[in-house]
Amino acid sequence: MQLMAQCGLPPLEARMLLERALGKTPAWLIAHAEDAAGAEAEQAFMALADRRRQGEPIAYILGEREFYGLELGVTRAVLIPRPETELLVELALARIPENAAVRVLDLGTGSGAIAVALAHERPQARLTAVDLDYAALSVARANASRHGVSVRLFCGDWFGALPGESFDLIVSNPPYVAAGDPHLAMGDVRFEPQRALAGGADGLDGIRAIVAKARAHLGPDAWLLFEHGYDQAEACRALLEAHGYREVQSWPDLAGIPRVSGGISAPIDGQNALK
Ligand code: GLN
Repeated sequence: MQLMAQCGLPPLEARMLLERALGKTPAWLIAHAEDAAGAEAEQAFMALADRRRQGEPIAYILGEREFYGLELGVTRAVLIPRPETELLVELALARIPENAAVRVLDLGTGSGAIAVALAHERPQARLTAVDLDYAALSVARANASRHGVSVRLFCGDWFGALPGESFDLIVSNPPYVAAGDPHLAMGDVRFEPQRALAGGADGLDGIRAIVAKARAHLGPDAWLLFEHGYDQAEACRALLEAHGYREVQSWPDLAGIPRVSGGISAPIDGQNALK
């Protein structure tokens, strides 16, 4: 397959695009490494390689990305699931017992990556996910059905579609990049929905809203866990503490960067009176 060397892309990317153009598996490609591709496949491959050379993320070109061991569909309506978000999944799983109908909410679900991964690992849990964007919700719906899990999906602004509902665990990977951060105009990120990334002047608009509003939707001793930027852990813990959350802490991702913070809900005066 001379094509791979000719296209000017890193070998791994070239191989992924060639597999797609040929409609073949990685194993087939290895076994047929010396074959020439047909004209049609060559043309299809060159078109995909061209998109990649112009910067389009591989995940959008292929329409897929693996997250927590699950192949998920992605479109340009949703953020591309990232490995660091698997930390949030791990921390959530540690708080969801295996055989209990725990009520879990994922705020700003996008592709549904977090909700689908949690539902897949904890079949007894009752997953709810919300997003502001209908197009994102249809991606999440397709991912839930692809993996045979059931997730209640709502369109709304944070808790807007969930008046009076209470959860045992709330998780979120909200937009948290500061507006004007040069990172938004770089690499893969510039192709992603800005609404899923940018969180106001300091990036914390979404997190501020979630930390404040979640208190009315968390049952007794329920955790709120959310992802944030590499330099936001301290500000996030301060917000949680200011709202009376307990056991406030941050956890590092695989690169050692504090990436998820959270705490246990505080009773709101006059509510949650049992605790
Ligand atoms: N981690 C992403 C980035 O740095 C941002 C994801 C988000 O805003 N939730 O591009």
